[in-house]
Amino acid sequence: MKAALLVEPGRIVVDEIPDPEPGSGEVRIAVGGVGLCGSDLSVFSGRWSVPASPWVMGHEAFGTIDAVGDGVSTERVGERVVIEPNVACFACDPCRRGWTSACVARQSVGMNRQGALAERLVVPGRFAWPITGAPKDLVCVEPVTVVRAALRRLGATPDSALVVGVGAQGLLMTLVLVDRGVEVHVADVNPDRVAFAERLGAHAMDGGSDRLFPLVVDTVGAPASMETALDHLEVGGTILVLGLDSRPLPLTAQTLVRRQATVRGSLTYDHPGDFESTVALVGDGRLQPGRVVTDEYALTDAQAAFDRSASAPGKTWIRVGVATAES
Ligand SMILES: [Zn+2]
Ligand SMILES: [Zn+2]
Repeated sequence: MKAALLVEPGRIVVDEIPDPEPGSGEVRIAVGGVGLCGSDLSVFSGRWSVPASPWVMGHEAFGTIDAVGDGVSTERVGERVVIEPNVACFACDPCRRGWTSACVARQSVGMNRQGALAERLVVPGRFAWPITGAPKDLVCVEPVTVVRAALRRLGATPDSALVVGVGAQGLLMTLVLVDRGVEVHVADVNPDRVAFAERLGAHAMDGGSDRLFPLVVDTVGAPASMETALDHLEVGGTILVLGLDSRPLPLTAQTLVRRQATVRGSLTYDHPGDFESTVALVGDGRLQPGRVVTDEYALTDAQAAFDRSASAPGKTWIRVGVATAES
């Protein structure tokens, strides 16, 4: 099968590799398309190290089941699915407490097991969710589940919020909050992205604004974005952090106590509830997250997709597609 292979940081070669075979309890998917996000760019640039080279990246994928392993009904062949790319062990302490997102033996598609930028991909059957819908919506199911899980962990959603950083994840956060009737303001260094967020129903926050919000979502998690978040947080408000920067944040106990702030981190989603509810919502068209997608590439142009996705106003996806009995 054809796959986009990361051969060294920043360089992708499209080449043939052997087809994976589904093992017991697994399904094989003829991949239809894959969305790109910040984590993929971290792998691409070499900031995030992967276990082998060359490496197949990508995790926000949909496709059609074309083979099943032992213990999976053959009736699943031909099913259109999105994949839940973080495969939990269900045996460790966090898993047993329902936090599969924090599984200590987590296997992540495109991070430490084969990625989705290939014509075929194998995952456990319970991590392939049946769904229908347009490709642009389907490639957004995984990242929008990250957003919805974060809001679930937060509890009640306030009337207004500031989203700091409107890359792919920030745009999806904006879209979900606007959809829930929240008045959303956005801040980003890239004016194209702010303009795009405005088209989704958000308000641009100008640099001199001193407006305060009960909720600030920091999708970057860097010192500068946290500075912005703190500058605009109401007393008693919450900062929801989704970004995964490793630098220390400019947050002192004095600020935390004086603002009586809550800082809430949120990582991916917990199996199965978060994916189940998102798949239901996107599958019947109540939420159309594909509205954040602006750029599309063929698998053979994966290099260009990765080179340009960071500067695209919206989200980038790569069409994969392979002839199957069904599609
Ligand atoms: Zn992602
Ligand atoms: Zn586990």
